[in-house]
Amino acid sequence: MAKKNRRSHALLRYRYYLYFILLCGLLVFAIVMIGRQAFPEKTPDVPDTPDPPAVLTDASVLPTDPPAAEVSEAPEVSVPDPTDAPPETAAPAAVSGTAHITPTAENLYVRIGRSHDVPVIPAGVGRDALSYAVTDPNICDVDEHGKVTGFERGSCEVIVTCGEEEVRIPVHVRELTVGEDGCTYVDGILIVNKSYSLPETYDPGLLPVTQEAFDRLSADAAAQGLNIYRGSDYRSYSYQVKVYQSMCSGYSKEYADSVSARPGHSEHQSGYAIDCNTIENGFAETPEGQWLKAHCHEYGFIIRFPEGREDVTGYTYESWHIRYVGEEVAREIMSQDLTLEEYLDVPSVYDLEEE
Ligand SMILES: [Zn+2]
Repeated sequence: MAKKNRRSHALLRYRYYLYFILLCGLLVFAIVMIGRQAFPEKTPDVPDTPDPPAVLTDASVLPTDPPAAEVSEAPEVSVPDPTDAPPETAAPAAVSGTAHITPTAENLYVRIGRSHDVPVIPAGVGRDALSYAVTDPNICDVDEHGKVTGFERGSCEVIVTCGEEEVRIPVHVRELTVGEDGCTYVDGILIVNKSYSLPETYDPGLLPVTQEAFDRLSADAAAQGLNIYRGSDYRSYSYQVKVYQSMCSGYSKEYADSVSARPGHSEHQSGYAIDCNTIENGFAETPEGQWLKAHCHEYGFIIRFPEGREDVTGYTYESWHIRYVGEEVAREIMSQDLTLEEYLDVPSVYDLEEE
């Protein structure tokens, strides 16, 4: 009996061990399960990381993306910027690089007495977070909003800074004068467009400088197997009267003004303009038209009325109409995709009194 009892006691003991081991197993299992439950919550956390970009965008891309809504927030962001910047430096650097100042033009052209915004857009900061200064305050001034006003003819630089970052943009202040010949000049370049006219008596013929440059252009084109010739060049005031009148008799005045100049306003009267080959829109696509666009600046000519710039020049695209301005000026204008109006900072609109 005693033996039997001892055995059953031992068995009972073992049972307890077994129960204990089982319990431990259950506990381990429970811990693992809890751990797993915790994990699936962390995995969605990873896709959650895209959420921080919401914070990111606030700091870095905000003003660029939605201009209207965030503009009001931008100044608030820009003020605590120095304090906010350190913790977020890694993020904006990845998104917008180090650039807070993005130039939108290589140069700024301002006529004396006129004002233009510095051609930069702020990235990640409000425009007023940028600081502005000029290298020669006698030539022009810049206010705290980045508006440059021309004082006297000359060139200097406007310096735009944002913290350590600095961007310098050359500013060229232009001077408009009326010569003894009654023509309007800006920095010595004759300007004739809808705003500025030539005297009825101004009658220079095709100028030798224009003729000589075109002859070189034409000869070099011919060496490439291309035929670029003078379709029309000098037109007198009285001739332009007829041209404009015939346009007005056939079309509305609005259309006539978009393709033809009123007497005194035609560049052909200046002696600097040439219409190449035939006056038709298809010329731009011909090998001659494409060569002219690519090379005319090498001979001192510009495509005077470029495509898509009617709002600036006052005229629709004329791929055939070239204007002599000299090689240096032509290169500056053509390489920057400018119009003569932008380069000289002049308008091209008919005065209401002339209507
Ligand atoms: Zn023309």
